[in-house]
Amino acid sequence: MAIKSLFIANRGEIAVRINKAAKALGIRTIQAASEADTDSLACRMADEVVVIGPPQAAKSYLDVQAIVQAIKASGSDAVHPGYGFLSENPRFVSAVEAAGIAFVGPDAATIAKMGDKAMARAEAVAAGVPVVPGSEGRIGDLDDARRQADRIGYPVMIKASAGGGGRGIRVVEDEASLERLVPQAMAEARASFGDDGLYMERYIQHARHIEVQVLGDGTDVVHLFERECSLQRKRQKVWEEAPAAMLSKAVRDALCDSAVSLARRVNYRNAGTLEYLYDSKTQEFFFIEMNTRIQVEHPVTEAITGIDVVQAQLRIAGGERLWFAQRDITQTGHAIEVRINAENPAKMFMPSPGLVTTYSSPEGDNIRFDTLLFEGYRIVPYYDSLVGKLIVWAPDRRAAIVTLQTALNSLKVEGIHTTVPLHRALATDIEVGEGAFHTAWLESWMAARELEASRA
Ligand code: ADP
Ligand code: ADP
Ligand code: MG
Repeated sequence: MAIKSLFIANRGEIAVRINKAAKALGIRTIQAASEADTDSLACRMADEVVVIGPPQAAKSYLDVQAIVQAIKASGSDAVHPGYGFLSENPRFVSAVEAAGIAFVGPDAATIAKMGDKAMARAEAVAAGVPVVPGSEGRIGDLDDARRQADRIGYPVMIKASAGGGGRGIRVVEDEASLERLVPQAMAEARASFGDDGLYMERYIQHARHIEVQVLGDGTDVVHLFERECSLQRKRQKVWEEAPAAMLSKAVRDALCDSAVSLARRVNYRNAGTLEYLYDSKTQEFFFIEMNTRIQVEHPVTEAITGIDVVQAQLRIAGGERLWFAQRDITQTGHAIEVRINAENPAKMFMPSPGLVTTYSSPEGDNIRFDTLLFEGYRIVPYYDSLVGKLIVWAPDRRAAIVTLQTALNSLKVEGIHTTVPLHRALATDIEVGEGAFHTAWLESWMAARELEASRA
């Protein structure tokens, strides 16, 4: 049954984005807000606001009981979890299902299986999708970790099975570091995700991060092509684009087909993303994880396909079967998204909350700005520092970069520091222009520039 009222269990720019998509479909919105968020843009847009708890996320946006209670009391018939927070929490999704409320995402069982990295890996192996050589399932104690690392070969990467947002990950060069880093990663995983399960993979040097967007209705699955997110800092994406800067048609087809076959295998419903590492030297790709939710960078896919992914999520959750077939989905041109954070790039990206004294959004054809900002808004210090995503589209990559330069110059945000200067530098960089990068490229580029700055 089509959704009539939607509870939005998230904040920030994604809550704004979900409000917009819901309005476009004539859906009434009920916005959850912590006490720190009651004057947010999302709250101003929503039909109704429900205060769910104090500013600390653990007591509001991450409090399963408080949110489920608020959802029930609101009488909403569906809930959109956004990204982060409870979006991939099977316990939360089970509680929503048990209350007879539609969850905008896959069911709890699918999230438990595909949202857990070690389990999703096993699923990928069973579907014949290549994975990075690594441990079978979770690693046990330190002895087990030592044995597995010897078998896989150093350097290895240890990862939190429940991980996300680049947390709980360590690159391990040798056995001595393993002894130090395994307990560290475990502690970080326990603190961040309430689950200290770890697994291990071979560390792939100079890989590119390429991911495939899929949409499923529980029976049929289609893909909306790939995105490249190789420009990262601390394993968090900074700049994303579609299509991938350098990928042959044969590899692109194989990648997208593998994503669809894996999603089909689990009868995937709603939007999901399958992430891969791509080794451009050997042209091999390896599945690394699935995100069973909307992703931050979904707008670049919307820009090249013309499909509104959040509206699609809401329609699928309302029970609609996919209304297009794979052959109906085409891609045109090139899109780039840059993440604008309230951080000071000159001071080790220190968070920069505070009052936004001046704000004017970038204007122009093929420029989109998804943001929580407005003039006079006070950015609160409790959450993720993402304040906006600048998305540009053009017929080809070179033109998209020029549009990005123009857009960055016309965006005005004063009162806080932002990562705009970093993006200005990237948008005029020769190697970025050539698409010659990998997941470790940005950090060494920044280190080299710091060195230059200290010599100057
Ligand atoms: P994406 O590919 O969509 O960027 P990420 O894994 O980076 O996916 O996560 C998206 C956002 O959600 C990031 O801002 C990250 O900080 C946050 N996030 C991811 N996982 C969690 C989690 N388990 N708890 C809280 N926040 C999370
Ligand atoms: P998260 O859930 O935090 O997003 P991912 O498994 O997606 O964790 O990994 C985050 C990033 O870490 C990737 O985008 C990539 O840059 C890097 N990475 C992950 N696995 C490997 C690997 N086996 N070798 C090299 N880099 C990796
Ligand atoms: Mg990831």
